[in-house]
Amino acid sequence: MNQPHGGNVVDRTLDPEARQEAVAEAETLPRLVIDSSRAADIRNIACGVYSPCTGFLGEDDLEAVVTTSRLSTRIPWTIPIICDVSEAGLYEVGATVALYTEDRPQPLALLHLEEIYEWDKARTVQAVFGTVDGGHPGVARMMARGDYLLAGPIDLIDDDRGPFAAINLRPAQTRKIFAERGWQTIAAFQTRNVPHAGHEHIQKSVLRMVGGLLIQPVIGHKKPGDFTDEAIVAAYQTLVENYFPPGRVLLSVLPTDMHYAGPNEAIHHAIMRKNFGCTHMIVGRDHAGVGSYYRPEEAIARFADFPDLGIAPLPMREELWFCRRCRGIVSARTCSHPPDDRIEFSGTTIRQMIQEGTAPPAEIMRPEVYDAVQSVSHIFVS
Ligand SMILES: [Zn+2]
Repeated sequence: MNQPHGGNVVDRTLDPEARQEAVAEAETLPRLVIDSSRAADIRNIACGVYSPCTGFLGEDDLEAVVTTSRLSTRIPWTIPIICDVSEAGLYEVGATVALYTEDRPQPLALLHLEEIYEWDKARTVQAVFGTVDGGHPGVARMMARGDYLLAGPIDLIDDDRGPFAAINLRPAQTRKIFAERGWQTIAAFQTRNVPHAGHEHIQKSVLRMVGGLLIQPVIGHKKPGDFTDEAIVAAYQTLVENYFPPGRVLLSVLPTDMHYAGPNEAIHHAIMRKNFGCTHMIVGRDHAGVGSYYRPEEAIARFADFPDLGIAPLPMREELWFCRRCRGIVSARTCSHPPDDRIEFSGTTIRQMIQEGTAPPAEIMRPEVYDAVQSVSHIFVS
Protein backbone atom coordinates (compact mmCIF):
# COMPACT_ATOMS: atom_id res chain seq x y z
CA MET A 1 0.00 0.00 0.00
CA ASN A 2 1.11 3.58 -0.58
CA GLN A 3 2.23 6.24 1.91
CA PRO A 4 -0.07 9.26 2.18
CA HIS A 5 0.93 12.44 0.34
CA GLY A 6 3.25 14.33 2.69
CA GLY A 7 3.63 11.32 5.02
CA ASN A 8 0.50 11.28 7.20
CA VAL A 9 -3.25 10.97 6.73
CA VAL A 10 -4.56 14.31 8.00
CA ASP A 11 -7.34 13.99 10.59
CA ARG A 12 -9.19 17.22 11.40
CA THR A 13 -12.41 15.59 12.60
CA LEU A 14 -13.33 16.52 16.18
CA ASP A 15 -14.03 13.66 18.57
CA PRO A 16 -17.57 13.52 20.06
CA GLU A 17 -16.69 15.42 23.22
CA ALA A 18 -14.87 18.24 21.44
CA ARG A 19 -17.75 18.30 18.96
CA GLN A 20 -20.26 19.15 21.71
CA GLU A 21 -18.07 22.03 22.86
CA ALA A 22 -17.57 23.26 19.31
CA VAL A 23 -21.32 23.29 18.64
CA ALA A 24 -21.82 25.46 21.73
CA GLU A 25 -18.85 27.67 20.85
CA ALA A 26 -20.11 28.16 17.30
CA GLU A 27 -23.16 30.04 18.66
CA THR A 28 -20.84 32.81 19.85
CA LEU A 29 -18.64 33.03 16.76
CA PRO A 30 -18.85 34.95 13.50
CA ARG A 31 -20.66 32.83 10.90
CA LEU A 32 -20.06 32.01 7.28
CA VAL A 33 -22.53 30.04 5.16
CA ILE A 34 -20.72 28.03 2.50
CA ASP A 35 -21.93 26.18 -0.59
CA SER A 36 -21.93 22.41 -1.09
CA SER A 37 -18.64 22.48 -2.99
CA ARG A 38 -16.75 24.13 -0.12
CA ALA A 39 -18.50 21.79 2.32
CA ALA A 40 -17.23 18.79 0.33
CA ASP A 41 -13.73 20.28 0.43
CA ILE A 42 -13.95 20.65 4.21
CA ARG A 43 -15.00 17.04 4.67
CA ASN A 44 -12.15 15.94 2.40
CA ILE A 45 -9.61 18.03 4.30
CA ALA A 46 -10.90 16.67 7.62
CA CYS A 47 -10.51 12.99 6.74
CA GLY A 48 -7.24 13.34 4.86
CA VAL A 49 -8.32 13.06 1.21
CA TYR A 50 -6.37 16.30 0.62
CA SER A 51 -3.40 15.38 2.85
CA PRO A 52 -1.12 17.16 3.63
CA CYS A 53 -3.54 20.14 3.59
CA THR A 54 -5.10 20.84 6.99
CA GLY A 55 -7.23 23.75 5.83
CA PHE A 56 -7.72 26.29 3.07
CA LEU A 57 -4.57 27.47 1.33
CA GLY A 58 -2.79 30.60 2.49
CA GLU A 59 -1.24 33.14 0.15
CA ASP A 60 2.24 31.54 0.06
CA ASP A 61 0.83 28.13 -0.75
CA LEU A 62 -1.52 29.50 -3.42
CA GLU A 63 1.35 31.43 -5.00
CA ALA A 64 3.48 28.27 -4.98
CA VAL A 65 0.67 26.24 -6.59
CA VAL A 66 0.14 28.90 -9.29
CA THR A 67 3.84 29.29 -10.13
CA THR A 68 5.20 25.78 -9.52
CA SER A 69 2.23 23.37 -9.20
CA ARG A 70 3.52 22.60 -5.71
CA LEU A 71 2.77 23.71 -2.17
CA SER A 72 5.32 26.01 -0.48
CA THR A 73 6.84 22.84 1.03
CA ARG A 74 7.54 21.71 -2.61
CA ILE A 75 5.05 18.85 -2.38
CA PRO A 76 3.18 18.45 -5.72
CA TRP A 77 -0.24 20.14 -5.70
CA THR A 78 -2.19 21.29 -8.75
CA ILE A 79 -5.73 22.27 -7.74
CA PRO A 80 -5.97 25.02 -5.09
CA ILE A 81 -8.27 24.25 -2.16
CA ILE A 82 -9.61 27.71 -1.31
CA CYS A 83 -12.46 29.41 0.51
CA ASP A 84 -13.67 32.62 -1.11
CA VAL A 85 -15.74 35.51 0.22
CA SER A 86 -16.87 38.66 -1.56
CA GLU A 87 -15.91 41.11 1.21
CA ALA A 88 -12.67 41.26 3.17
CA GLY A 89 -13.87 43.23 6.19
CA LEU A 90 -16.35 40.76 7.69
CA TYR A 91 -13.82 38.70 9.63
CA GLU A 92 -10.66 39.30 11.63
CA VAL A 93 -7.43 37.39 11.31
CA GLY A 94 -6.95 35.36 14.47
CA ALA A 95 -10.68 34.76 14.90
CA THR A 96 -12.39 31.40 14.63
CA VAL A 97 -15.26 31.39 12.12
CA ALA A 98 -18.18 28.97 12.39
CA LEU A 99 -18.94 27.47 8.98
CA TYR A 100 -22.50 26.47 8.15
CA THR A 101 -24.17 24.95 5.10
CA GLU A 102 -27.50 26.14 3.73
CA ASP A 103 -29.31 22.87 4.35
CA ARG A 104 -28.35 21.94 7.92
CA PRO A 105 -28.94 23.83 11.19
CA GLN A 106 -25.83 22.61 13.01
CA PRO A 107 -22.37 24.03 12.26
CA LEU A 108 -20.28 22.07 9.76
CA ALA A 109 -16.83 23.11 10.92
CA LEU A 110 -14.66 25.73 12.54
CA LEU A 111 -12.15 27.73 10.51
CA HIS A 112 -9.20 29.11 12.46
CA LEU A 113 -8.57 32.20 10.40
CA GLU A 114 -4.90 32.84 9.77
CA GLU A 115 -5.11 34.98 6.63
CA ILE A 116 -7.52 37.03 4.57
CA TYR A 117 -6.13 38.01 1.20
CA GLU A 118 -7.10 39.17 -2.26
CA TRP A 119 -6.31 36.75 -5.05
CA ASP A 120 -5.58 37.16 -8.73
CA LYS A 121 -8.36 35.04 -10.17
CA ALA A 122 -7.37 35.26 -13.82
CA ARG A 123 -3.78 34.30 -13.04
CA THR A 124 -4.88 31.38 -10.87
CA VAL A 125 -7.37 30.25 -13.51
CA GLN A 126 -4.70 30.39 -16.22
CA ALA A 127 -2.33 28.28 -14.11
CA VAL A 128 -4.93 25.67 -13.17
CA PHE A 129 -6.87 25.37 -16.44
CA GLY A 130 -4.33 26.54 -19.01
CA THR A 131 -6.96 28.95 -20.35
CA VAL A 132 -9.13 31.85 -19.20
CA ASP A 133 -11.84 31.08 -21.76
CA GLY A 134 -15.21 31.62 -20.07
CA GLY A 135 -16.73 28.82 -22.17
CA HIS A 136 -14.76 26.33 -20.06
CA PRO A 137 -17.08 25.27 -17.21
CA GLY A 138 -14.30 25.09 -14.61
CA VAL A 139 -12.96 28.51 -15.60
CA ALA A 140 -16.42 30.06 -15.42
CA ARG A 141 -17.02 28.67 -11.93
CA MET A 142 -13.67 29.83 -10.56
CA MET A 143 -13.98 33.30 -12.11
CA ALA A 144 -17.41 33.66 -10.45
CA ARG A 145 -15.95 33.18 -6.97
CA GLY A 146 -15.41 35.99 -4.45
CA ASP A 147 -12.43 38.35 -4.60
CA TYR A 148 -10.98 37.45 -1.19
CA LEU A 149 -9.79 34.18 0.32
CA LEU A 150 -9.96 32.98 3.90
CA ALA A 151 -7.14 30.68 4.96
CA GLY A 152 -6.32 28.54 7.95
CA PRO A 153 -6.84 25.07 9.41
CA ILE A 154 -10.33 23.67 9.90
CA ASP A 155 -11.93 21.37 12.46
CA LEU A 156 -14.87 19.29 11.27
CA ILE A 157 -17.89 19.15 13.57
CA ASP A 158 -20.63 17.56 11.45
CA ASP A 159 -19.26 14.29 10.11
CA ASP A 160 -22.31 13.32 8.03
CA ARG A 161 -21.28 11.12 5.09
CA GLY A 162 -24.24 11.90 2.85
CA PRO A 163 -26.67 9.75 0.84
CA PHE A 164 -24.08 7.07 -0.02
CA ALA A 165 -22.59 6.89 3.50
CA ALA A 166 -22.08 3.10 3.43
CA ILE A 167 -19.76 3.40 0.43
CA ASN A 168 -18.33 6.87 1.14
CA LEU A 169 -15.14 5.64 2.75
CA ARG A 170 -12.41 7.78 4.29
CA PRO A 171 -8.72 7.15 3.52
CA ALA A 172 -8.25 5.54 6.95
CA GLN A 173 -11.04 3.08 6.09
CA THR A 174 -9.84 2.15 2.59
CA ARG A 175 -6.32 1.70 3.97
CA LYS A 176 -7.63 -0.66 6.62
CA ILE A 177 -9.57 -2.69 4.03
CA PHE A 178 -6.55 -2.87 1.69
CA ALA A 179 -4.40 -4.12 4.59
CA GLU A 180 -6.99 -6.71 5.63
CA ARG A 181 -7.25 -8.00 2.08
CA GLY A 182 -3.47 -8.09 1.76
CA TRP A 183 -3.44 -5.87 -1.33
CA GLN A 184 0.11 -4.63 -2.05
CA THR A 185 -0.54 -2.85 -5.32
CA ILE A 186 -3.82 -1.03 -5.73
CA ALA A 187 -5.03 0.73 -8.86
CA ALA A 188 -7.62 3.50 -8.73
CA PHE A 189 -10.26 3.86 -11.41
CA GLN A 190 -11.80 7.32 -11.43
CA THR A 191 -15.17 7.71 -13.09
CA ARG A 192 -18.09 10.04 -13.64
CA ASN A 193 -19.99 7.73 -15.97
CA VAL A 194 -22.04 4.58 -15.88
CA PRO A 195 -19.82 1.68 -16.97
CA HIS A 196 -19.87 0.29 -20.48
CA ALA A 197 -18.05 -2.83 -21.61
CA GLY A 198 -14.93 -0.82 -22.51
CA HIS A 199 -14.60 0.42 -18.93
CA GLU A 200 -15.02 -3.10 -17.60
CA HIS A 201 -12.40 -4.34 -20.07
CA ILE A 202 -9.89 -1.76 -18.77
CA GLN A 203 -10.71 -2.57 -15.15
CA LYS A 204 -10.25 -6.29 -15.72
CA SER A 205 -7.05 -5.82 -17.73
CA VAL A 206 -5.60 -3.85 -14.82
CA LEU A 207 -6.89 -6.36 -12.25
CA ARG A 208 -4.73 -9.02 -13.84
CA MET A 209 -1.66 -6.99 -12.88
CA VAL A 210 -2.44 -5.57 -9.43
CA GLY A 211 -3.60 -6.80 -6.03
CA GLY A 212 -6.85 -4.88 -6.06
CA LEU A 213 -8.89 -2.20 -7.74
CA LEU A 214 -10.53 0.84 -6.15
CA ILE A 215 -13.42 2.01 -8.33
CA GLN A 216 -14.20 5.50 -7.18
CA PRO A 217 -16.98 7.50 -8.83
CA VAL A 218 -16.72 11.23 -8.23
CA ILE A 219 -20.04 12.49 -6.91
CA GLY A 220 -21.18 16.06 -6.38
CA HIS A 221 -21.47 19.08 -8.66
CA LYS A 222 -21.80 18.08 -12.32
CA LYS A 223 -22.79 19.53 -15.70
CA PRO A 224 -26.38 19.27 -17.00
CA GLY A 225 -26.65 16.08 -19.08
CA ASP A 226 -24.14 14.18 -16.92
CA PHE A 227 -25.28 10.96 -15.28
CA THR A 228 -26.61 11.50 -11.75
CA ASP A 229 -24.72 10.15 -8.76
CA GLU A 230 -27.47 7.63 -8.05
CA ALA A 231 -27.35 6.26 -11.61
CA ILE A 232 -23.57 5.84 -11.49
CA VAL A 233 -23.60 4.23 -8.06
CA ALA A 234 -26.45 1.84 -8.92
CA ALA A 235 -24.72 0.83 -12.16
CA TYR A 236 -21.39 0.13 -10.48
CA GLN A 237 -22.90 -1.72 -7.54
CA THR A 238 -24.59 -4.04 -10.04
CA LEU A 239 -21.48 -4.48 -12.18
CA VAL A 240 -19.19 -5.23 -9.23
CA GLU A 241 -21.65 -7.63 -7.66
CA ASN A 242 -22.30 -9.60 -10.84
CA TYR A 243 -19.10 -9.46 -12.86
CA PHE A 244 -16.11 -9.28 -10.50
CA PRO A 245 -14.82 -11.88 -8.06
CA PRO A 246 -15.55 -10.98 -4.42
CA GLY A 247 -12.70 -9.28 -2.61
CA ARG A 248 -10.83 -7.96 -5.65
CA VAL A 249 -12.66 -4.67 -6.11
CA LEU A 250 -13.62 -1.95 -3.65
CA LEU A 251 -16.35 0.46 -4.71
CA SER A 252 -16.35 3.77 -2.83
CA VAL A 253 -17.63 7.19 -3.84
CA LEU A 254 -15.58 10.38 -3.66
CA PRO A 255 -17.59 13.57 -3.12
CA THR A 256 -15.59 16.32 -4.79
CA ASP A 257 -16.23 18.74 -7.62
CA MET A 258 -15.14 18.01 -11.16
CA HIS A 259 -13.16 21.02 -12.36
CA TYR A 260 -12.54 19.71 -15.91
CA ALA A 261 -8.95 20.94 -15.54
CA GLY A 262 -7.57 18.05 -17.62
CA PRO A 263 -3.85 17.47 -16.93
CA ASN A 264 -3.75 19.31 -13.59
CA GLU A 265 -6.86 17.56 -12.41
CA ALA A 266 -5.40 14.18 -13.38
CA ILE A 267 -2.54 14.92 -10.98
CA HIS A 268 -5.01 16.00 -8.30
CA HIS A 269 -7.04 12.83 -8.81
CA ALA A 270 -3.87 10.78 -8.39
CA ILE A 271 -2.88 12.63 -5.18
CA MET A 272 -6.29 11.94 -3.66
CA ARG A 273 -6.06 8.24 -4.59
CA LYS A 274 -2.55 8.07 -3.13
CA ASN A 275 -4.08 9.24 0.14
CA PHE A 276 -6.65 6.44 -0.07
CA GLY A 277 -3.69 4.03 -0.29
CA CYS A 278 -3.54 3.41 -4.04
CA THR A 279 -0.21 2.81 -5.77
CA HIS A 280 -1.48 3.34 -9.31
CA MET A 281 -4.00 5.53 -11.06
CA ILE A 282 -5.67 4.64 -14.34
CA VAL A 283 -5.46 7.71 -16.60
CA GLY A 284 -7.34 7.98 -19.87
CA ARG A 285 -6.61 9.95 -23.03
CA ASP A 286 -8.71 12.96 -22.06
CA HIS A 287 -8.75 12.51 -18.29
CA ALA A 288 -10.90 15.16 -16.57
CA GLY A 289 -11.00 17.12 -19.81
CA VAL A 290 -13.87 19.00 -21.40
CA GLY A 291 -14.52 19.96 -25.03
CA SER A 292 -11.22 20.28 -26.89
CA TYR A 293 -9.32 22.34 -24.31
CA TYR A 294 -6.66 19.67 -23.75
CA ARG A 295 -4.66 17.66 -26.27
CA PRO A 296 -5.08 13.89 -26.33
CA GLU A 297 -2.61 12.38 -23.86
CA GLU A 298 -1.82 15.76 -22.29
CA ALA A 299 -3.07 14.41 -18.94
CA ILE A 300 -0.89 11.31 -19.26
CA ALA A 301 2.14 13.43 -20.20
CA ARG A 302 1.64 15.71 -17.19
CA PHE A 303 2.78 12.93 -14.85
CA ALA A 304 6.32 13.26 -16.24
CA ASP A 305 6.50 16.71 -14.58
CA PHE A 306 6.19 15.10 -11.12
CA PRO A 307 8.81 12.37 -10.65
CA ASP A 308 8.27 12.69 -6.89
CA LEU A 309 4.46 12.29 -7.06
CA GLY A 310 4.54 8.91 -5.36
CA ILE A 311 1.73 7.30 -7.37
CA ALA A 312 2.20 5.89 -10.86
CA PRO A 313 -0.14 6.51 -13.78
CA LEU A 314 -1.45 3.53 -15.73
CA PRO A 315 -2.03 5.18 -19.10
CA MET A 316 -4.96 3.98 -21.17
CA ARG A 317 -4.18 5.54 -24.53
CA GLU A 318 -6.07 3.33 -26.89
CA GLU A 319 -9.51 3.70 -28.27
CA LEU A 320 -11.42 0.44 -27.72
CA TRP A 321 -14.34 -1.10 -29.56
CA PHE A 322 -16.11 -4.44 -29.86
CA CYS A 323 -15.09 -6.34 -32.99
CA ARG A 324 -17.68 -8.74 -34.38
CA ARG A 325 -15.01 -10.80 -36.16
CA CYS A 326 -12.72 -11.04 -33.09
CA ARG A 327 -15.81 -11.40 -30.87
CA GLY A 328 -14.23 -9.30 -28.19
CA ILE A 329 -13.04 -5.88 -27.12
CA VAL A 330 -10.09 -4.78 -29.19
CA SER A 331 -8.02 -1.79 -30.25
CA ALA A 332 -5.97 -0.85 -33.30
CA ARG A 333 -3.09 -2.67 -31.65
CA THR A 334 -4.98 -5.96 -31.36
CA CYS A 335 -7.37 -6.14 -34.33
CA SER A 336 -7.00 -5.57 -38.06
CA HIS A 337 -10.62 -5.87 -39.15
CA PRO A 338 -12.37 -3.09 -41.04
CA PRO A 339 -14.58 -0.47 -39.33
CA ASP A 340 -17.72 -2.27 -40.58
CA ASP A 341 -17.05 -5.00 -38.02
CA ARG A 342 -16.98 -2.56 -35.12
CA ILE A 343 -19.50 -1.78 -32.44
CA GLU A 344 -18.18 1.43 -30.94
CA PHE A 345 -18.45 2.67 -27.36
CA SER A 346 -19.87 6.07 -28.15
CA GLY A 347 -20.80 7.91 -24.97
CA THR A 348 -23.27 10.00 -26.93
CA THR A 349 -25.00 6.95 -28.44
CA ILE A 350 -25.16 5.11 -25.10
CA ARG A 351 -26.61 8.21 -23.42
CA GLN A 352 -29.19 8.60 -26.16
CA MET A 353 -30.28 4.97 -25.97
CA ILE A 354 -30.63 5.14 -22.19
CA GLN A 355 -32.66 8.32 -22.54
CA GLU A 356 -34.97 6.67 -25.06
CA GLY A 357 -35.35 3.57 -22.87
CA THR A 358 -33.61 1.28 -25.35
CA ALA A 359 -31.10 -1.21 -23.96
CA PRO A 360 -27.71 -0.92 -25.72
CA PRO A 361 -26.41 -4.18 -27.26
CA ALA A 362 -24.91 -6.55 -24.67
CA GLU A 363 -21.53 -6.11 -26.39
CA ILE A 364 -21.66 -2.47 -25.20
CA MET A 365 -23.40 -2.60 -21.85
CA ARG A 366 -24.31 -5.38 -19.43
CA PRO A 367 -28.11 -5.78 -19.38
CA GLU A 368 -28.04 -5.76 -15.54
CA VAL A 369 -26.21 -2.43 -15.62
CA TYR A 370 -28.74 -0.96 -18.02
CA ASP A 371 -31.58 -2.16 -15.75
CA ALA A 372 -29.88 -0.66 -12.69
CA VAL A 373 -29.57 2.71 -14.45
CA GLN A 374 -33.22 2.61 -15.51
CA SER A 375 -34.25 1.84 -11.91
CA VAL A 376 -33.18 5.21 -10.47
CA SER A 377 -35.54 8.18 -10.31
CA HIS A 378 -33.31 10.67 -12.17
CA ILE A 379 -30.80 9.29 -14.66
CA PHE A 380 -29.41 12.63 -15.89
CA VAL A 381 -28.52 15.92 -14.23
CA SER A 382 -30.98 18.58 -15.38
ZN1 LIG B 1 -11.20 -7.78 -35.04
